[in-house]
Amino acid sequence: MKAGPTVDLHWRVPLWAACDVVVIGGGSAGCSAAVAAAEQGAAVVLVERQGFLGGTGAMVLDTFYGFYTPGSVEHKVVGGVPDRVIAGLERRAMVLKRPNTYGAGAGLTYDPDTLKLVWDELAAAAGVNVLHHCTFVDVLREGDRVVGVVLATKQGLRALRAPSLVDASGDADVAARAGAPFEDAGADGSAQSLTTTFRMFDVDVAAARAFPKEALWARMREVAERGEYDLPRREGSIHATPFANVMHTNLTRVAGVDATDPEQLSRAEREGRRQAFEYARFLREHVPGYERAHLGGLSVQIGVRESRRIRGEYWLSRDDVLGAASFPDAVARCGAPIEEHHGGGDTRWEYLPDGATYDIPYRCLLPREIEGVVVAGRCLSASHDAHASVRSMGQCMAMGQAAGVAAALAQGGNLRGVDVGAVRERLVEMGAVL
Ligand SMILES: Cc1cc2nc3c(=O)[nH]c(=O)nc-3n(C[C@H](O)[C@H](O)[C@H](O)COP(=O)(O)OP(=O)(O)OC[C@H]3O[C@@H](n4cnc5c(N)ncnc54)[C@H](O)[C@@H]3O)c2cc1C
Repeated sequence: MKAGPTVDLHWRVPLWAACDVVVIGGGSAGCSAAVAAAEQGAAVVLVERQGFLGGTGAMVLDTFYGFYTPGSVEHKVVGGVPDRVIAGLERRAMVLKRPNTYGAGAGLTYDPDTLKLVWDELAAAAGVNVLHHCTFVDVLREGDRVVGVVLATKQGLRALRAPSLVDASGDADVAARAGAPFEDAGADGSAQSLTTTFRMFDVDVAAARAFPKEALWARMREVAERGEYDLPRREGSIHATPFANVMHTNLTRVAGVDATDPEQLSRAEREGRRQAFEYARFLREHVPGYERAHLGGLSVQIGVRESRRIRGEYWLSRDDVLGAASFPDAVARCGAPIEEHHGGGDTRWEYLPDGATYDIPYRCLLPREIEGVVVAGRCLSASHDAHASVRSMGQCMAMGQAAGVAAALAQGGNLRGVDVGAVRERLVEMGAVL
């Protein structure tokens, strides 16, 4: 659909409530931000358009990466709220640590539904007011200061006022709407590909795991080149889960999508689903262990790796990542490689020096040209390459707790003037690794 003429709307929007901190988006970053801000004594409202917390981590995935560095010696580089998430999963025996067999360091594989429950509990214990089924649509502003948000609800538009806002929407919805500069990987064609994940049920897991991934990839290439299957990506990963006979896949690939464009995203959802069933057919017909398996669970939505990234007070670069840069205003750390899911058949990996990490500076979370907003998660200020390293959920949680503490400490929403030394001290007290 082409954009037509504009329509003027003159709506009076009821003011629902006022609080200290509003967090938009209840994914890895937003949940951590809300919990951390509330623990600092702020009155926090967390707004999530879905009916559960966890974001991409609950809708698409089941493995936290970024907690550990890859390479010969493993270092844990994330702590604090993320540790409590793992503890909640461990209490229910719903997380298993998988050694680094594929790229990004040891992974922590969990049950996504239990993750939703754990986030509910952490948010409730911290006193966060969680609003589900509410979608951020606009900002309230006074000059260049954002002082609240407008939400679309089943009862129409509602406004919430708060001096500090955390944009953890993944797509930088708040910062973009407020007029902050951003890079739009979807619009400029550089965005990483999208993936619909799915689970296979009734798998003979021992037989499936005994089949080497190189053999799996070779078989994909053979059948795709013979034209028997439409498999755009001839590699990818499949791994065991906390459940017997269930394997989780990351195989499909939909490239060239602007995930903020409703029509493109709608087409991508259909294409991702189509591919998922095609990969499932391939697994059943060609891969040991899957002979009696069936596709048992599609991701709630297609997984979006990259869309808008703010252009903030600092822009994390490829050289910062590969050169293991350190910064005085570090609020999180990362040792993950650059993992580039480009439009072709494979994935490109580039590693930091063995065991090294780089810092994520607070300035990467601060949008330029607007006041009262801090971002967290995959919409941080970073180049395409740096983003391909820093976007794991471990780092999104770590950035989230930093943004939450900063939002709670900022006097009158002065996020730019916040004492970063004090933020770092509070983070260390919470267990963060800096
Ligand atoms: C296919 C795929 C595979 C990946 N594999 C891994 C992996 O194995 N391990 C790993 O650690 N990382 C992985 N990543 C990266 C990681 O999942 C993401 O970078 C991370 O989850 C982003 O977290 P976030 O909190 O920034 O955003 P999200 O988790 O996406 O959270 C954003 C939240 O905001 C909500 N929201 C969005 N807009 C609005 C709005 N306007 N109003 C209200 N709510 C809104 C959304 O519903 C969502 O809950 C993968 C990503 C993808 C797409």
